[in-house]
Amino acid sequence: MEMTTLEDVRAAVLQQLRCDQLLGLKFVPLSRPQRPGLAEKQRRLAALDEQSVRGCTKCRLCETRTRTVFGQGNPAARLVFVGEAPGFDEDKQGLAFVGKAGQLLTKMIEAMGLTRDDVYICNVIKCRPPNNREPAADEILSCSPYLREQLCIIEPEVIVALGSPAAKTLLNTAQSIGKLRGSFHEYFFSGVTGEGPCIPLMPTYHPAYLLRSPDEKRKSWDDLKLVMAMMENSAAGGVR
Ligand code: URA
Repeated sequence: MEMTTLEDVRAAVLQQLRCDQLLGLKFVPLSRPQRPGLAEKQRRLAALDEQSVRGCTKCRLCETRTRTVFGQGNPAARLVFVGEAPGFDEDKQGLAFVGKAGQLLTKMIEAMGLTRDDVYICNVIKCRPPNNREPAADEILSCSPYLREQLCIIEPEVIVALGSPAAKTLLNTAQSIGKLRGSFHEYFFSGVTGEGPCIPLMPTYHPAYLLRSPDEKRKSWDDLKLVMAMMENSAAGGVR
């Protein structure tokens, strides 16, 4: 029998259950791995933050930070934005993207028809580099396992890497953001391209760069439209 719609499947399952009932068979659920629910993801993220990130002394940035910035938003978000590192405002408040760049990011998210509470927002680096300098390679190396763990817990459908350091770290590449943006790449949890489960990742310009170069906003919007199409497609293909 060909099953094309969910209704067909539902009808076939009900018919099978009725047959089983008539035959006196008991329904035995098949055991399959349970995806953690929202509360469990929230619990795991909080544990990672409280037990590992807040007290982290793995690199020199712990000496100059005011607060660690773990990230915030929906623990079961379909879409995660990953930035570079906390800036002045983020370091003071302990929240990601709350300064000027954060305000632009909020507008970008809202233009996609979403709110900040729908998505998850975090950074590659959890502590502010002094004077907002670019994170050093050893700082990224120390900190990126926290980001990998966050992404593992959240299991988003799509990741947006904001700016060069985020895109290069997540994709393990030296290519420029100008070359990477505009098409989907694959984020591999293993960190090694081509191994294990992966998530589609769209690199785009960092909101701080867009504030300095507003002419590039159109390109970022094109990238986000591709993300919206990918999410619509995956919502049509299956329920999480
Ligand atoms: N820039 C980032 O990359 N992250 C923030 O949280 C703020 C500014």
